[in-house]
Amino acid sequence: MSSQNVSEKPTGPLDVGRIREDFPILGRRVYGKPLVYLDNAATSQKPRQVIEALVRYYEQHNANIHRAIHCLGEEATAAYEEARAKVARFINAPSPECIVFTRNTTEAINLVAHTWGRANVGPQADILLTQMEHHSNLIPWQRLAAEKGASLRYIGLTNEQTLELDGLDELMHDRTRILAVTHASNAVGTINPIGRLVKEAHRNGTTVLVDGAQSAPHMPVDVQAMDCDFFAFSAHKMLGPTGVGVLYARRELLDEMEPFLAGGEMIKRVTLEGATWNDVPWKFEAGTPNIADVIAFGVAIDYLTGLGMENVRAHEMEITDYAMRRLRQMEEVFIYGPPDVADRGGVVSFNYPDLHPHDIGTILDREGVAIRAGHHCTQPLMRILGVSGTARASFYVYNTLEEVDVLVEALGKARAFFSNDTP
Ligand code: PLP
Repeated sequence: MSSQNVSEKPTGPLDVGRIREDFPILGRRVYGKPLVYLDNAATSQKPRQVIEALVRYYEQHNANIHRAIHCLGEEATAAYEEARAKVARFINAPSPECIVFTRNTTEAINLVAHTWGRANVGPQADILLTQMEHHSNLIPWQRLAAEKGASLRYIGLTNEQTLELDGLDELMHDRTRILAVTHASNAVGTINPIGRLVKEAHRNGTTVLVDGAQSAPHMPVDVQAMDCDFFAFSAHKMLGPTGVGVLYARRELLDEMEPFLAGGEMIKRVTLEGATWNDVPWKFEAGTPNIADVIAFGVAIDYLTGLGMENVRAHEMEITDYAMRRLRQMEEVFIYGPPDVADRGGVVSFNYPDLHPHDIGTILDREGVAIRAGHHCTQPLMRILGVSGTARASFYVYNTLEEVDVLVEALGKARAFFSNDTP
């Protein structure tokens, strides 16, 4: 069950050439062209270390966990719990008991809305969100508000799609029970000032949930320094398999909260009349969990730790800066989000005035370039921007400046195709 670190270098720039060798899919061709994968905000590709961990688990260790009194069961249990400890270290959680495995970020947020939310949000309460939230950090709160008769409030946006914090005092008051906010926007790239938001929320007695789906994969995260109450993210966006998410929560909150789903694993004692709950975090992991994928996620975390999250962030800033500079040179391209790369993640969302983002995406696909086109699960944000969608390129550890060149060249072809020019 050992994993292999990709880089011996503790610091310094990423050795992207070497990293790329770990990703079998990057050798693929699409429509005869080398694959240029720039849809990392949707999901990342997987290194062979993670793929091999899945195969190794099923070939050597497969068993159900926590219950079996046999060697395989003990090995599987130890590996599963070791992955939990790795996740805790990765985000500097105070202990592995603060880490609950879910299916994805969406389920982690739903867990909080259903359990903590139902117990703590009443008819007089406000739920504070922002106008840039992903549907996954919007709909669970809309449902809770409808069920409880609570009110939804939104932090608005500046013209550069950063949070408009000038009126925050008026939005946050003693009835504001929770602030649920994304750390980094999947749609426009903005990194939000979580430290400041948490401070102001806590001064007000407001609990804070941070949607870390677009931050945990891309930058160092320290939940204790951030001082948030809940932090949610997905393995599949950070080199891990699909089907695994993480909810970090402060221990005392997990102790107080009712279980989300009920059944096996999450109980201590069951009678025909009722049951008592298991300790945290197992109280929140009903049924057989996604054992193999959690263990492989642990290997993805080893991989990222081997690269160094400071280096991951520095690499993405370099690529994002280059992409923005190249795109700005193209006539009429409009780029959303803050102009300074220090204020944004590795996401570049853009539009051409007369080109539908889907048309851009289709032409780029024919050139082997995979981007995302559409509303990015942020329909309210798109409405505020006055567009039906955007084209979005999003970067990760294996992307190169040369791939940005391919993107820009393919965009030139799309532009020429739709204006009937010869490229
Ligand atoms: N929040 C943000 C900011 C996201 O970008 C995403 C996915 O794109 C999600 C939540 C939902 O993640 P998942 O689909 O893994 O639950």
